[in-house]
Amino acid sequence: MSSVFNPVKIKLPSGHFIGGRYVEADASAAKIEVISPSTGQTVGSIPCADAAWVDHAVCDARAALVRSGWGGIAPRDRLKALHKWADLIEENAETLALLEAVCSSRPVADARAGDVCVTAEQIRFFAEFADKEGGNLVPVADGHFGYIADAPYGVVGAITPWNFPISMAGWKLGPALAAGNAVVIKPSEMTPYSTLYMAELSVQAGIPAGLINVVLGDGPVTGTALTGHPGIDKVSFTGSTRAGGAIMENIARTGIKPMTLELGGKSPMVVFADADIDLAAECLDRGIMPNAGQFCVAGSRMIVAREIADELAAKLAERFKRYRPANTLAEKAGFSPIISEKQLSRIDGIVRASIDAGGHILCGGERFDCEGSYYQPTLIGAVDENNPAVRDEIFGPVATFQTFETEEEAMELACHATYGLCAGLFTRDLSRALRLTRQLEAGTVWVNRYGRSRDHILPTGGWKASGIGKDLGQEAYRANRRTKSVLIDL
Ligand code: NAD
Repeated sequence: MSSVFNPVKIKLPSGHFIGGRYVEADASAAKIEVISPSTGQTVGSIPCADAAWVDHAVCDARAALVRSGWGGIAPRDRLKALHKWADLIEENAETLALLEAVCSSRPVADARAGDVCVTAEQIRFFAEFADKEGGNLVPVADGHFGYIADAPYGVVGAITPWNFPISMAGWKLGPALAAGNAVVIKPSEMTPYSTLYMAELSVQAGIPAGLINVVLGDGPVTGTALTGHPGIDKVSFTGSTRAGGAIMENIARTGIKPMTLELGGKSPMVVFADADIDLAAECLDRGIMPNAGQFCVAGSRMIVAREIADELAAKLAERFKRYRPANTLAEKAGFSPIISEKQLSRIDGIVRASIDAGGHILCGGERFDCEGSYYQPTLIGAVDENNPAVRDEIFGPVATFQTFETEEEAMELACHATYGLCAGLFTRDLSRALRLTRQLEAGTVWVNRYGRSRDHILPTGGWKASGIGKDLGQEAYRANRRTKSVLIDL
């Protein structure tokens, strides 16, 4: 199969992408159904790669790396190939967006106008490091010559989640390829199609076949085989803290190798009484409800000064009640579905447990009464740090609402026992903002806004159990190269 998409009837690929082409598993291979969360209907099925298939993909990537000399060619040639790939991603935005929307929670219009363009932009951003970042001469005593050389790792094993499949693939593939590596990537079994098509486009762009191999399958079988494969030189993972822990264990058991882990979050958005309350309401809303709260940096804990709490809670409830579910393939973007019925039950379970523990529903708290897996935007008050809705990552359209009297109390509430991905602060007091950004235990702090900009130079990644290492920024490029210290006696 060469092209995957037929605009009249979406023809979805059903095989792995290895060595620059789709390869079908034999009929006896285990299969995984791919389901549209907007309708609950099965849209396709994919094979679940076993250790032999993973081995095939890894060995093919290694051979492609050697054959093409990708890590050692003129850096400018890597840069040019990545720019061409970004061009093709932009030109095929429509197809990519449909492949995304058919099985994920991303509305097609948002994927087309947002995720695809930003991903192309980020690939260009990383391409530019290829011929600009290098080693360093270092000061050493006379009679010696010392420098730090750097080199690609070789074959990177990447694993991505279902929540922003195109973006997550770009975050892994862009820096790894720019830095001279090959990648074997395993997208989420729930949302495999856009990653496959991105790999197909990379070959059309002149990136040597085999430098991006896509293996399909689940975490326990395919993911475990990939992270434990001796031919993988580095692991780059984005997903839950639970799976991140399992990967660390597997790597410790099968042979030590470097890894970056981008994991879960439970990020606070703290609003002081001097904040612009309308701006805060808008940012808090946008900090949790896009993609129905299914994004790692979601501001799922609202922490609000008591003086303005009632007013802000009322403004939020009013905004939340306006959301209407929409099929992800509808041209006008609406409220996103929850990725699966299993995840919807988990969300509802945490909401019920939160109520049992004393939580008070300020709005929402039920699934929408419609086709597909949709959950109402939900706000829960009267909770403390032991409440399940405050403690656990929910990964749905559910936020808790806590109040504080003093700055110290606000910071105590903001600090989470487990996670440290992001934090938001809303205040007009610049001194307070600067003081508190130092205190917050998080990999990113936003002040008087909530959410990423298109400044791809800012790395993203968590403190504490939210992760190890960074995606985006110069750090992500550097994380795909390893250094070698050289000292020569002259
Ligand atoms: P998940 O951990 O269930 O799955 C993520 C990926 O890991 C999938 O491809 C899955 O098949 C694979 N996987 C699962 N178990 C594995 C194992 N033992 N070994 C190897 N691979 C395994 O997560 P999800 O439900 O797909 O995504 C949601 C999670 O991802 C949330 O916790 C969210 O916070 C996190 N996330 C983090 C970031 C970030 O940048 N920090 C970004 C997006 C999502």
